Amino acid sequence: MGKAQIIDGKALAAEVLGKVARATAELKQGHRLTPGLAVILVGDDPASQVYVRSKGRRTREAGMESFEYRMPEQTSEEALLEQIAALNADPKVHGILVQLPLPAQIDAAKVINAIDPDKDVDGFHVINAGRLMTGQKALVPCTPRGCVLLARQARAQMSGLEAVIIGRSNIVGKPLGQLLLNENCTVTIAHSRTRDLPGVTRRADILVAAVGRPQMVKGDWIKPGATVIDVGINRIPAEEEGKTRLVGDVDFDAAVHVAGAITPVPGGVGPMTIAMLLRNTIEAACLQTGAPLPAVLEGI
Ligand code: NDP
Repeated sequence: MGKAQIIDGKALAAEVLGKVARATAELKQGHRLTPGLAVILVGDDPASQVYVRSKGRRTREAGMESFEYRMPEQTSEEALLEQIAALNADPKVHGILVQLPLPAQIDAAKVINAIDPDKDVDGFHVINAGRLMTGQKALVPCTPRGCVLLARQARAQMSGLEAVIIGRSNIVGKPLGQLLLNENCTVTIAHSRTRDLPGVTRRADILVAAVGRPQMVKGDWIKPGATVIDVGINRIPAEEEGKTRLVGDVDFDAAVHVAGAITPVPGGVGPMTIAMLLRNTIEAACLQTGAPLPAVLEGI
């Protein structure tokens, strides 16, 4: 059996970030506009701290302004809502991201829906979800947007293809279903109650796994030649005593002999998510100021 094309998410993300930096330079020069992204972290979850740090670094590298707010674990919902109101009113801030998960005393949906929809660069606000669903201009969640770009590396033309997504979360599975529908795919969204999941996934020309279960998707679940996008990030024990490693939701070593193209973990969807966040920040800045979206961002 042959080997699948490995879709290089790191390289594609670097290309997108290069375009984002060019777009930022263009807005600064032509429109005296410096896109600004504010990230709020509540508590001290170690994984969230890593994400927030790398978001800040990438934002600055692209030439944008980065604002970071760290709030203690015991922050009240009211205090967080006040912080968001202040950022909603700040003209230097074009994008607001609240790092999830939030501590138990805070209602995440209430907090997300308090963000100005035009500053909601994660695309999680109910208004943006509704706009996406009804075909109106929306800020679209970053991970699903990245998945579509990755799939396009292998499938320039997706119209008419069977797409199967495993996972129906609001941040990945559901918005991705809508995006692939917009690409004219025939979309199936599978989940924990799906009957005969391998039978369903074997129909897929494009298969996306967004579950959070290490190496769940086996080689024989995949249609030969399919494009496989692995969103999962799972930490499992490594062969070396006491060490861990990251794996996706797909059994990569088996899948690579069946699929036509596949994203690795790490180095696939992960790097694309942050690139799309910065892309969305530029879109938000243009939306709020009336500046045109720089042409270099066309198609991404
Ligand atoms: P959620 O836990 O919100 O959703 C998981 C989905 O998988 C649910 O719809 C659930 O079904 C379904 N599921 C669980 N078990 C099974 C099963 N045995 N068979 C079929 N479906 C199942 O996860 P997220 O969408 O937030 O994230 C999914 C994965 O993607 C995680 O590993 C996460 O770390 C990763 N991720 C990666 C990102 C990146 O940047 N690369 C960004 C976001 C997430 P049901 O609804 O029925 O419970």
